[in-house]
Amino acid sequence: MSLNIIDIIRKKRDLEELSKEEIEYFVREYSAGNIPDYQASSLLMAIYLNGMSQREISDLTIAMAHSGEMLDLSQIPGVKVDKHSTGGIGDKVTLVVMPLVASLGVPVAKMSGRGLGFTQGTIDKLESIPGFRTNITTEEFIQNVKDIGISIMSQQENLVVADKKMYALRDVTSTVESIPLIASSVMSKKIAAGADKILLEVTCGTGAFMDNEERARVLSQTMVDIGKQAGKDTIAVITNMNQPLGRFCGNSLEVMEAINVLKGEGDEDITKVCIVLGAYMLKLAGKGDNFGNNVKLIQRSLQSGEGLQKFKEFIERQGGDSSIIETPRLLNMAKFKTPVYSLESGTIYSIECKDIGQAIVNLGGGRLKKDDYIDNTVGIEVLKKIGDTVKEGEPLLIIYSNDLDKAKEEAYKLQRSYKFASIDIPKIEEILDVIE
Ligand code: URA
Repeated sequence: MSLNIIDIIRKKRDLEELSKEEIEYFVREYSAGNIPDYQASSLLMAIYLNGMSQREISDLTIAMAHSGEMLDLSQIPGVKVDKHSTGGIGDKVTLVVMPLVASLGVPVAKMSGRGLGFTQGTIDKLESIPGFRTNITTEEFIQNVKDIGISIMSQQENLVVADKKMYALRDVTSTVESIPLIASSVMSKKIAAGADKILLEVTCGTGAFMDNEERARVLSQTMVDIGKQAGKDTIAVITNMNQPLGRFCGNSLEVMEAINVLKGEGDEDITKVCIVLGAYMLKLAGKGDNFGNNVKLIQRSLQSGEGLQKFKEFIERQGGDSSIIETPRLLNMAKFKTPVYSLESGTIYSIECKDIGQAIVNLGGGRLKKDDYIDNTVGIEVLKKIGDTVKEGEPLLIIYSNDLDKAKEEAYKLQRSYKFASIDIPKIEEILDVIE
């Protein structure tokens, strides 16, 4: 029987399960431009509303992974473990964890994305290092990993064609926050990028797509199950994104902070998340099953400076100026610093974390469209977090900008992103759960 998109939409609308052939037909024909956006959006909305079975999600993921080229990393010896974050504010974990595990012999061959919406991407952060090239060829990428054990490149245009088209469509049809669609989007990219094993950082809170723990758990379990079905062991660590991770948000500022963490001088929260994620990466790479021992290995690489040395080598290999490590002011920084003062006295009980990401976008540090120019120097320093007690008029944040009027506008809005209580509020837990 020949397939057609109208029947497929109707089936999903009427809560029926789609067959593997129907899912493959949709992905293939939509990627080739034979199904128009209006029919694809109808199907995406039906999936958003009615969900998918785990079997349908796995079939969708595998079909998407094969919708473009698949990267072959088999020339690189060892177990390649990829890492992916579902996106957050101040999340510079990749910049720290990848050199740390590379320094312990785990080959790091990672393809990363740019920021979209209120989140920033690893590629933009790396490009804030003077001279750093992320747009390298696959051959160069593989050679770097063979020679120094680490390379990170920007997402290739010809990989996972279906995700590029579907993500752009979801963005403008209010169908982003769907567990089957997020899970297939993330996992198809990881599978196509050639990883043997996958570590997922699933962010949860006011600065993430998943705003409650239950949904974050379901998303994590869904992705771990897809990984298993694809023969790629996957672990998901759910991290708390109810406040920015670490102290700085914004591309250049986050590189500076990542260097501090690698020097062993980072704030406790970001350091802890990096150690835990690093320990799970070692486990996936077959470098040790005992979590406590893995933690010690990562801590040792932090203390000995081996992780930092690997970061230096990595910067140099990809054309960047590694003197930023000793002299962070060589990173381009914004001209003005504008404090954001507290409107109240009390203990902070919540921060609307997305507002901080949005403020950075409004200051020129994020993109609304994929090709927008961004200003890597703007950002926000977080002085006060949940559980801290402040007095009215005390600074909560510092805005780094190149436009004082815009900074004042954002400061006015950000003052209202903090909520206060008159009772003691505990500090937040950074790690909410681990699904494996
Ligand atoms: N990150 C992705 O790669 N895809 C999504 O759908 C959401 C977050």
